Amino acid sequence: STILVTGGNGFVAAQVLIAALERDYTVVSTVRTEKKGEETKTALSSRLSPAQLSKLSFAIVPVIEDEHAFDKVLTENKFDAVVHTATPFILSAKDPKEITGPAVGSTKSLFKAINDLAPTVKRVVLTSSFASVVDPAKGWRSGYVYSEKDWNPISWEETHDGDGSHAYYGAKKWAEKAAWEYMEENKPHFDLVALCPPMVFGQVAQYVPSAEALNTSSAALFQMLSPGANADGSIPPHSVALWVNVADLGTAHVLALSAKDASNKRFIIAADGTYNNKAICDVFRSHFPDLASRIPTKVPEGFNEDGTPIGGSYTADNSLSKEVLGLKYQSLEDTMVQFGESVKKFVQ
Ligand code: NDP
Repeated sequence: STILVTGGNGFVAAQVLIAALERDYTVVSTVRTEKKGEETKTALSSRLSPAQLSKLSFAIVPVIEDEHAFDKVLTENKFDAVVHTATPFILSAKDPKEITGPAVGSTKSLFKAINDLAPTVKRVVLTSSFASVVDPAKGWRSGYVYSEKDWNPISWEETHDGDGSHAYYGAKKWAEKAAWEYMEENKPHFDLVALCPPMVFGQVAQYVPSAEALNTSSAALFQMLSPGANADGSIPPHSVALWVNVADLGTAHVLALSAKDASNKRFIIAADGTYNNKAICDVFRSHFPDLASRIPTKVPEGFNEDGTPIGGSYTADNSLSKEVLGLKYQSLEDTMVQFGESVKKFVQ
């Protein structure tokens, strides 16, 4: 089976590539430059055998929101399925259109190109987000159980109000909406599976030249290992209650390629329970004792001594992912050890 994966040099995509190549898929991945393809192959060479790596190739797509961005790669190959991961994950964009443009635009250009030019594609797996599920305005929303029926109610105007977090959360919501609308309006020859992960943590397997170049969710963790950032000993407050291991998310994408009953469904891909930064600091301290003195200990205002938000928080129902995809979830402790091992080289 041959698949197309967009944005193959990203944090999540690295694990999608690993999971797919380990399961014998042939993969063509889009990246913005030749160099990013080469760097990705080098980065993955410690995780995959030469035989597995030989089934990975790259196609250059510099501007994913261009109407015809994906025409060439889709006509030059015969794909069975497509995984769309590429989206800017930046929470501090000055211009919201820098996020919504590529996020929504690429979804539209890709779906139309597959429909027009790639008759062999049977399924598209979209990397959406818990950002398109959660209602951030409701805060910690104690006791509420989010499920796949929930949609972030953010409006297009609020998405573009200049707040970087609104831009990203909105972009994810509008991109997933655009995907479902395309399905509804065009009844294409392929079906859709949307995956909605919350904070994604774990092994950094993609090419990263320095700590400054870490992806957004890994950078949030690395901050807790950076002495300057924790000068007063305060643990940075977390803002999302849920998380998932990035390798589990990679596996989820590959399971979603073939799970029959996944057709035209969205899935919350989140580990059981909740996490908080105090719990993460505790894991770091016990597994990386050399770094213990720099890891913050003081619980921030608004949180209990165990790091949970005062008053409790929402959770999510992940049962659909277990039942339909057969997904199993790793523990927070194992996930943080995998993260720590993979970024130790950046710790100064
Ligand atoms: P990364 O920043 O590591 O990867 C983002 C990928 O998208 C890279 O390949 C990047 O390419 C590409 N990309 C970003 N902006 C553009 C653009 N303007 N044009 C073309 N390509 C672009 O992030 P993640 O791996 O974390 O994110 C991957 C997906 O997972 C995204 O869809 C994100 O929304 C989703 N997600 C991530 C979560 C997390 O906690 N990490 C949580 C929930 C969802 P380049 O390097 O060239 O910029």
